Amino acid sequence: MEPAPKGPNAADAQRPSTWRRYKSGMCDGCWAGCCTLPVEASASDLIRLELITEEEAAESLKRVAKRLKSEGYIQAFVPRTQLFVLEQRNGRDCIFLGKDRLCTVYQKRPEVCRKFPTIGPRPGFCPVAKKG
Ligand code: SF4
Ligand code: SF4
Repeated sequence: MEPAPKGPNAADAQRPSTWRRYKSGMCDGCWAGCCTLPVEASASDLIRLELITEEEAAESLKRVAKRLKSEGYIQAFVPRTQLFVLEQRNGRDCIFLGKDRLCTVYQKRPEVCRKFPTIGPRPGFCPVAKKG
């Protein structure tokens, strides 16, 4: 198993009361705490990520979920919301987070990633910390 990257422990990212108010430029040098939170992706997000085709999405999202789970891309599918939860490494980092703690699919990232921290567990606030 890969050693867990340095940075604040998972509990900090899971405790929004410890987060700091987001300011422009704060992402520079941040350990990407936002990428340690579970990411909910829609079928459109998965199509943009080229993990599934439009035809597959139209046919059966449950079948899509079964395949993506077996391939290690998602950890869950919520039928009620029709959203997929992306897999996390060590129960923490998003599978698309690189070793340099930058997103490896930045141009194709899900909508929720584009909107954070406007939306999230504590809107306007971040689990920010310097890269280790
Ligand atoms: S936690 Fe906030 S400051 Fe850090 S990378 Fe994510 S959005 Fe930027
Ligand atoms: S898809 Fe990219 S931006 Fe979104 S959580 Fe994963 S690594 Fe972070």
